[in-house]
Amino acid sequence: MTQTGKVKQPHRESSLLIIGAGTFGTSLAVHASKACAGGSHITIIDRWSPDASVHDKNAAAVDINRIIRTDYASPLYSRLAHEAIHFWSWGMEYQGHFHKAGWVVFDGPEHDDSFRKHVQQTAEERGSNAVDLIDVKEFINKHEILSGLSKERTGDCYRNPKAGWVKAANATKAYLRIAESRGVRRVTGEVEELLMRDDGIGLKGVRLHDGTTLEADRVVVAAGAWTSSLLSPLEDRLNIAHKDRIERQVTAVGRLSAYYKLSEGEVMEMMEAKLPIIVLGRELDIIPPFFHIPYLKVNDLKTEFTNTVTTGSRQQITAPDIRHQKQVPLELVRRSEKIIKSNLPDWAQSRTPEHWRICYDAVTPTEDWVLSQHPDGRLKNMFVAVGGSFHSYKFLPVAGKYLLNVLNGKSNGEEMDQAWKWKDETELRQKSAKEFGQSPQRLNRLDLQDMKRKTRL
Ligand SMILES: Cc1cc2nc3c(=O)[nH]c(=O)nc-3n(C[C@H](O)[C@H](O)[C@H](O)COP(=O)(O)OP(=O)(O)OC[C@H]3O[C@@H](n4cnc5c(N)ncnc54)[C@H](O)[C@@H]3O)c2cc1C
Repeated sequence: MTQTGKVKQPHRESSLLIIGAGTFGTSLAVHASKACAGGSHITIIDRWSPDASVHDKNAAAVDINRIIRTDYASPLYSRLAHEAIHFWSWGMEYQGHFHKAGWVVFDGPEHDDSFRKHVQQTAEERGSNAVDLIDVKEFINKHEILSGLSKERTGDCYRNPKAGWVKAANATKAYLRIAESRGVRRVTGEVEELLMRDDGIGLKGVRLHDGTTLEADRVVVAAGAWTSSLLSPLEDRLNIAHKDRIERQVTAVGRLSAYYKLSEGEVMEMMEAKLPIIVLGRELDIIPPFFHIPYLKVNDLKTEFTNTVTTGSRQQITAPDIRHQKQVPLELVRRSEKIIKSNLPDWAQSRTPEHWRICYDAVTPTEDWVLSQHPDGRLKNMFVAVGGSFHSYKFLPVAGKYLLNVLNGKSNGEEMDQAWKWKDETELRQKSAKEFGQSPQRLNRLDLQDMKRKTRL
């Protein structure tokens, strides 16, 4: 009882619903549950159970491995990556996931040294000499996988021994468990619709595929490449103009990875030769095998594609294809095979991947994240956390800390606030992508719908 005679209400944390237990959603769940005693006011929902098979889960935060590196041209993401790698290396909660294999980055067939030079400049400004040029011929000779390559083809290369990889499927699952152990409620289900409050101001919650509804004071959409397809029907209903829609901020883009199954002998050979992660500039990422992960994974960095669909109000949006992630159109396989074989001329010539996988990410024009409220005043209690742009898994330990500040109306400092805001047309037109600029893969993106039409003809 207060002096004025009113009964004092116990403090109630406002309830929070996070849609998507990928990189951004999981990170937020952990940080939000740490920020206040008990996380029982927080619910996180994902269509996949943490225990579902890695082969089926089409989420960018789930794979046999993801690269963790600190090399960025952008000083902002370099700083963040240093913050994150500290947790991957030393954080109790991350122990056992990070494998410090180092990485070697070649300029690539175009001999484009801009990434290396920018990384070097950013590192030097941080007082580090991380960019260590190495002898190309010696490196090629040491690793059988590169047999048949020459410096004329690869250009120069540098090594940073601090980089490594994590088994992303396991690390994401383990991190989500931390949130659960702090009281966060995890729900497995497909969010089908975002529901408005009865007075038309603010989101009430969500309706799931099975008809269940979940309500919350605040909703965070962290649905990765599915963000636009989830939000667009609501934007349709609210008649939101094209320029203020989520599709203007992010594009759902797919890339292909090839998984080469190795024999025990091959795994041991590569491990004994200390095969690092290799990046063949703008063409391929090669991620080495490990005892219990007997695969050499090769990411095709050159072939990017979208899947354009039309919404109820005739807006064109991008959304991941509904086919299983391992059902890859033949034309894409052929393209990727050609790129892999031209970059690994001897090793890949007579080998076929055990399987291919399509993985989608939400890509922003500037490669910055979008951690923001929706600009429409009727959606003030809804936030989006999206824009991984093929580089954001590494930030799993830290992204949620900054996102939580956004939710609480706190600034992350001028530089981050500007980078992660919902950008207007002028900003979107003025700013180019941070790491790779107007790269050829961006300009030459294919669309699955066009490919389907061509196949039908
Ligand atoms: C091929 C490829 C290679 C990459 N390599 C690297 C790398 O080496 N290093 C690195 O740092 N980053 C890498 N990335 C990028 C990184 O994986 C992503 O940037 C990051 O995972 C994006 O996080 P997210 O939370 O936005 O999306 P996601 O991790 O995809 O999470 C979104 C979640 O939302 C769920 N969801 C969506 N819609 C619904 C719905 N309607 N109902 C319920 N749940 C829903 C999904 O199931 C998913 O779990 C790579 C990405 C790809 C595609």
